[in-house]
Amino acid sequence: MFINGKWKEAQNGAKFDVLNPATGEVISSVADAGSQDISAAIEAADKAFPVWSSLTAYQRSHYLYTAWKIMMDKKEDLARVMTMEQGKPLVAARNEVQYGADFLLWFAEEAKRVYGQTIPSARPDQRFIVLKQPIGVVGAVTPWNYPVSMITRKLAPALAAGCTVVLKPAEATPLCAMEMFKIFEEAQIPAGVINLVTAFDPKPVGDEFVSNPIIRKLTFTGSTKVGKMLASKAAQHMKKISLELGGHAPFIVYDDADPIHAAKGAVLVKFLNTGQACISPNRIFVPRHMVDDFTQEFTKRVNAMKAGNGMDKGVRIGPLVGPDAIAKVENQVKDALEKGAQLITGGTRLTDSPLENGFFYAPTVLSNVTKDMLIFREETFGPVAPIIAYDPEDDVIEMANDTVYGLAAYVYTKSTSRAMNAFERLKFGIIGINDINPTSAAAPFGGMKESGIGREGAKEGINEYLETKLGGFSI
Ligand code: NAD
Repeated sequence: MFINGKWKEAQNGAKFDVLNPATGEVISSVADAGSQDISAAIEAADKAFPVWSSLTAYQRSHYLYTAWKIMMDKKEDLARVMTMEQGKPLVAARNEVQYGADFLLWFAEEAKRVYGQTIPSARPDQRFIVLKQPIGVVGAVTPWNYPVSMITRKLAPALAAGCTVVLKPAEATPLCAMEMFKIFEEAQIPAGVINLVTAFDPKPVGDEFVSNPIIRKLTFTGSTKVGKMLASKAAQHMKKISLELGGHAPFIVYDDADPIHAAKGAVLVKFLNTGQACISPNRIFVPRHMVDDFTQEFTKRVNAMKAGNGMDKGVRIGPLVGPDAIAKVENQVKDALEKGAQLITGGTRLTDSPLENGFFYAPTVLSNVTKDMLIFREETFGPVAPIIAYDPEDDVIEMANDTVYGLAAYVYTKSTSRAMNAFERLKFGIIGINDINPTSAAAPFGGMKESGIGREGAKEGINEYLETKLGGFSI
């Protein structure tokens, strides 16, 4: 753990193992925080806050810029640790490191643009001034699927705003978090400003984040279930929260779209990170008369994807995070097949050597998927693509909006008016129009409905870490 500028073991000496999901091998063991460690980290962040928040924006910006430069130098090392610990193919890991570094650079700039306001008053003797100030100590919880970029997406704006932080990474990926903290250490970010607490059981840390009065803000990325539970507890203490939660993205192909182009895009985004992405399409809507052409092209591309250890050249499908993830996928596929879906390819766990000790599931395509199936409602978080046929009389936007989630949606059409109509009517925070990568450090990322609260990245991202203070001056 990294607490008050020093690397530490847990005070009670406890540790937990970290596995390589491609081989099932133990690759390291790391400190398992107890309550004393969590308190020490929060205390360190509290002590560091007055100093860090009184630095100039230019000084804080300089630290972030330095960290960005170091991160770019260490891109390859970070990517390798990520592939070993999380399983994604090395090429994808490199892309993620770049995406993660982008947040450091973006918020190094945004630090200098935390503007207030002056507001005209109706009273001649009165002046209004609005000031933006850092909210205080932040508790951050990050997931395993993007184990580097989810850290910088939270820490960069928090630090830019003048907040200090205690971070708890996912128990499956503490090594990536440790590598990131070595970068912050090398950038000489002052002791106590950022603290890393690794823990096998996330609950005690989560409970402390939502109940300790020193923590003024909780930022969480993970499942909707845990997000809701933390939000309800945080409400008891009126803490500011931002939540990036689950998704159930629709991918709509209109009848004027090129089925080949649409299938190519759909495969790329569906199997990104082996389907373990919150913006992963979970329902692919295709006009009934185009389903055969689309499915054929889609399946051809799926069958060309090689599964394996992400370190091996040419691998496109890495392992799932663990046995529970496999069980969830198996259950959804079984349920769909029982209710009349057609298995086009895949549909099994991959256990042939050398994959037998990893958590691999074959990239899978299901067609004839209907509303009554589990996969139509429940987030899959795995490599299964469900294709749903729709008819001209169906309102496909209404079908797409029929979910409790509201993170990402995709639309393929050549018609500008259809694109605009879909963009305006879809109840999702991020819409890709003929575009499968509508994300960037410069663009606001976040969801509606049960996909979360708040936005990360962009100019909105820093606001999540700021309070607005009004001054009324009688002169
Ligand atoms: P999860 O909610 O169990 O875990 C995510 C993080 O929350 C981990 O760090 C975990 O240790 C922590 N956590 C779990 N229980 C906790 C508790 N009681 N208190 C505090 N922290 C706790 O989710 P998961 O199933 O491991 O991860 C996948 C989920 O995350 C998916 O549902 C996915 O959609 C979501 N996700 C969302 C985004 C986004 O940006 N919206 C990004 C990545 C993942």
